[in-house]
Amino acid sequence: MAKTITHWLNGEPFSGASERRAPVTDPATGQVTAEVALAGAEDARAVIEAAHSAFPGWRDTSLARRTSVLFAFRELLNSRKGELAEIISAEHGKTVSDALGEVGRGQEVVEFACGIAHLLKGGHTENASTQVDAYSIHQPLGPVGVISPFNFPAMVPMWFFPLAVAAGNTVVLKPSEKDPSASLWMARLWKEAGLPDGVFNVLHGDKAAVDELLTHPAIRAISFVGSTPIAEYVYRTGTAAGKRVQALGGAKNHAIVLPDADLDLAADAMVSAGFGSAGERCMAISACVAVGPIADELVARIADRTRGLTLGRGSAEPDMGPLVTREHRNKVSGYIDAGVAAGAELVVDGRGRQAEGLPGGHWLGPTLFDRVAEDMSIYTDEIFGPVLSVVRAESYDEALALVNRNRYGNGTAIFTHDGGAARRFQNEVEVGMVGINVPIPVPMAYYSFGGWKASLFGDSHAHGMHGVHFFTRAKAVTSRWQDPSHGGLQLGFPQNA
Ligand code: NAD
Repeated sequence: MAKTITHWLNGEPFSGASERRAPVTDPATGQVTAEVALAGAEDARAVIEAAHSAFPGWRDTSLARRTSVLFAFRELLNSRKGELAEIISAEHGKTVSDALGEVGRGQEVVEFACGIAHLLKGGHTENASTQVDAYSIHQPLGPVGVISPFNFPAMVPMWFFPLAVAAGNTVVLKPSEKDPSASLWMARLWKEAGLPDGVFNVLHGDKAAVDELLTHPAIRAISFVGSTPIAEYVYRTGTAAGKRVQALGGAKNHAIVLPDADLDLAADAMVSAGFGSAGERCMAISACVAVGPIADELVARIADRTRGLTLGRGSAEPDMGPLVTREHRNKVSGYIDAGVAAGAELVVDGRGRQAEGLPGGHWLGPTLFDRVAEDMSIYTDEIFGPVLSVVRAESYDEALALVNRNRYGNGTAIFTHDGGAARRFQNEVEVGMVGINVPIPVPMAYYSFGGWKASLFGDSHAHGMHGVHFFTRAKAVTSRWQDPSHGGLQLGFPQNA
């Protein structure tokens, strides 16, 4: 019998009433290693109720006490992050070092949230009017839902829950059912750090769990990350139910390589950003736009590097691990078939490659296409696998127009030695996160992460000051404390004096 991964409610594992389960596999072998509970509406309501009950106590806990728990969580995470990285690698397939990087980027948000006392300070104006003071305060919202994708089972939840908890909210995390164990490990860590029971809860499941979070009246806000169709659904459903929603969606990230770029640097960047984590990153580069006469040389250098990449189990530290599920692997491989059928030039073919001694794994080698056209499905769709498409453009303007025509606007990069061109690009490109000679420009925790267009629904990005604002609501107070001599009626609209 495979072990069952349960929900987490009130500081304890919770099996729930639903008997629905989903298999969790080791992507390197294809074997089922566990099953995860899939909540029904009744289970979801029980977990939401726990977060709801814990809210008043946590809201009124002093900032000093709240931040001490945050610091303790940060210390525990920092000293034991290797454990978490191994859990991630075993269920997701990425290398352990890559998983450690993911945990590190999440930890940066925890560190940012440790400064919440400073971040929550409001303004104060003395004598706004005679004997009248005006000031603002930022209060938590209540129980909030965090719904996360499979590709960053620790980092993406940590884009949200450290700030949510620090600001005084309680949390229900609904992780991806494909790699659910990281969430429980983090829940246990919170308990060890001294977080009161019920403040951080985990609800496993699929659409049924998500729908309950989106419509339950106790849930005040939803932070979602996943594919664009689901992000849009979450945004529409959650806002229709009166909730604050930020929903980050899919991506098709372009890197423009100008003729004056350092071609070795650019080729290294294309391969690292295209095939790292087997391309299962929302900031992966999937379209390389080669501008002008450098295209042949750039493709040759990318191809050389691509052919040398190794596949293997994540713990063996190859260049690339397997894809998360067999179904996803087959979908990505189907895109390669479609690219060939549509007439793109297949320079490196990853189909047929597998890691030695692990025949059942979800293997797909890195794949490089050249002369990709704008109407091919390998260009129009988010593939979310190790497939890099080179599109050729005659000029900077043509390359920029291509990026700006794309429906997604998550990340982008430009490679050049020309500061003027880079500056024009950062100004003109319609994308939320821009790299200049940096292929994966993930913002630091104290800035905010988020794309434009079909890559984000709502108006708040993740973490940074956007995150602080998202998880609080502002109140403006006008107060008058008069000396005892004053009195008299005043029925007119108050005037400043
Ligand atoms: P997904 O959309 O399939 O799932 C995301 C979450 O939604 C999961 O928790 C899942 O259980 C839930 N879900 C799935 N189907 C649902 C449905 N019909 N109704 C309600 N909930 C549903 O995404 P994924 O495959 O887990 O992750 C990959 C996607 O996430 C890619 O599109 C990637 O670009 C995107 N992503 C985006 C960012 C970003 O910052 N913009 C970051 C990471 C991943």
